[in-house]
Amino acid sequence: MIPYSRQTVTAEDIDAVVEVLQSDFLTQGPVLRRFEESVAYYCQARHAVATSSATAALHVACLSLEIGKGDLVWVSAISFVASANCARYVGAQVDFVDINATNGLIDIAELEKKLLLAKAKNRLPRALVVVHLAGQSCAMEEISALCSRYKVSIIEDASHAFGASYRGHPVGSCIYSDVAIFSFHPVKPITSGEGGVVCCNNAELVRKMRLFASHGIERDEERFNSSALGEWYYEQQLLGYNYRLSDIHAALGLSQMNDLDEAVSQRNSIAKQYDALFYGTAVKPLTQGDSVLSSYHLYIVTFPSKEIRNHAFTSLREQGFGVNLHYMPIAIQPYYQSQGARIEDIPNAILYSEIALSLPLYRSMDRSVPEQVAAICLNCLDGDNM
Ligand SMILES: *Cc1c(COP(=O)(O)O)cnc(C)c1O
Repeated sequence: MIPYSRQTVTAEDIDAVVEVLQSDFLTQGPVLRRFEESVAYYCQARHAVATSSATAALHVACLSLEIGKGDLVWVSAISFVASANCARYVGAQVDFVDINATNGLIDIAELEKKLLLAKAKNRLPRALVVVHLAGQSCAMEEISALCSRYKVSIIEDASHAFGASYRGHPVGSCIYSDVAIFSFHPVKPITSGEGGVVCCNNAELVRKMRLFASHGIERDEERFNSSALGEWYYEQQLLGYNYRLSDIHAALGLSQMNDLDEAVSQRNSIAKQYDALFYGTAVKPLTQGDSVLSSYHLYIVTFPSKEIRNHAFTSLREQGFGVNLHYMPIAIQPYYQSQGARIEDIPNAILYSEIALSLPLYRSMDRSVPEQVAAICLNCLDGDNM
């Protein structure tokens, strides 16, 4: 089976991990710090905090923004469930904002309408989680203008978008948001095995995120509530978790960063190959904005109908291509249904989930794959009026 995504691990990556295994620190060591510094530098963010996963990063971000019970968090309707779960971890209610079905990203007009209505009802959200689906940044300038008008914090779930840029700024610069979160899971653009990073320009938020990610324990004497009782002294100042990333993982992530720009450029070149094959046909790649460079974590197309998409899905799977849907609307998940999630408000997300499909795209993929995949997709259009 040709999967929709897979990691590339080089001999240099393996050496970097082995070097850590032979060193004094398997965790909380120097490589972790270097990984964080390297991500912050790449993203032009002031700070980066590495965590055990993007899910953990989303959780500490919500905790540090002091989102909790009685608060409302809005989430882009099409994403992986983790984008919404972070709000539930801290006891907040979740509501979904509809997307634009042609690019899969949060619909700005819809967001504006919803904010206006929420303001009138005195039920504005504390935070908005936007998702850079497939690796393309949302229209952050517009989102940021709207959210600052209503004093809504912005969490960028950039799990798909490491290496991407928006209006000349790397995704993760946090120019238009409070925090931006990346995932280093093996299906994502580059990997640390498991791992996440949160970028942030606010030193106080960063301090809290570090505390939440490491048992709530403060070791900096200058920040103690009481005076130190001795060299051994540390303080648990809040209820934190063990969400640390190990140096073993960080070594893989750091080494993979050497290849990040190359990875993004290879992904873009495969995407262009697909684009050309679908050009002028009824199979539509997600539209791309003018001022964005996508990291192309995923290559997603939409079909003219649900029946044709389903036919394409079956045909591709039968012929050994591990295509998939990213994603069903989170609101239709039984858990979110049990929380009273409304699907009436997200018609575009429902439509998208009926006609979208992610096609194989990864660096080591044979360059004949797009042609084979496109031929099968286009074949499903012909005479298929099911
Ligand atoms: C993968 C993913 C996550 C979770 O990432 P982990 O590192 O596996 O926790 C969150 N949000 C989105 C959009 C993702 O694709």
